[in-house]
Amino acid sequence: MRKKVIAGNWKMYKTQAEAQEFLQGFLKHLTETPDDREVVLCVPYTDLWLLSKNLHGSRIRLGAQNIHWAAEGAYTGEISGPMLAEAGVRYVVVGHSERRQYFGETDDTVNLRLKAAQEFGITPILCVGETKQQRSTGQTEPFIFNQLENDLVDVDQSNLVIAYEPIWAIGTGDTCEPDEANRVIGLIREQIDNPDVPIQYGGSVKPDNIDVIMAQPEIDGVLVGGASLTPDSFGRIVNFGL
Ligand code: 13P
Repeated sequence: MRKKVIAGNWKMYKTQAEAQEFLQGFLKHLTETPDDREVVLCVPYTDLWLLSKNLHGSRIRLGAQNIHWAAEGAYTGEISGPMLAEAGVRYVVVGHSERRQYFGETDDTVNLRLKAAQEFGITPILCVGETKQQRSTGQTEPFIFNQLENDLVDVDQSNLVIAYEPIWAIGTGDTCEPDEANRVIGLIREQIDNPDVPIQYGGSVKPDNIDVIMAQPEIDGVLVGGASLTPDSFGRIVNFGL
């Protein structure tokens, strides 16, 4: 059975003080969380060590939001696999649409980052997804298949999570209909070699739509932005189905 992965992506939110406050409220929700799901928090770099020390013994897995392909070097502003692994990072978001759109990430750099994460024992969460315009012009499938083909060159599919995040659904409140997300995720699964890769949905996931999203047979988890920032809403999301 494929693993369910419920991940929060904090993006550029939360100082250490705010992260500490979040944890206090969030940990109590985990006492009822079933074992069938992995709970991941992908946080800003400055929060990593704080969480690493405070998560000791908790079931939360620590995640980062990017990784450079070199182990070290003259790459101002970047962070490496050994640095993340030392902080206890187990997952890293790679190729998020915000990185592709605002910071010039290409399929080539995404591919290098995926391989670097795996080299340092970190599971990458590869994000793919189409724009509104691509969807309205019938380009959704070819665009995503092309991303997958280029991003996954020589990537080990036994240590990988994929997130289908339609760009038009991110931060807009305009959730992709669950059956449509299920359909696209089923097509993504047909494109990859390993049928056991967990494939998440991301884009305006909230407490009030999590149960119907997770009831879809192809959807193995969610990547949550805004609703992962408050303990009660993310607590409700990790406890879907209860
Ligand atoms: P929202 O949940 O805020 O729409 O963000 C989704 C996302 O981009 C997660 O990576």
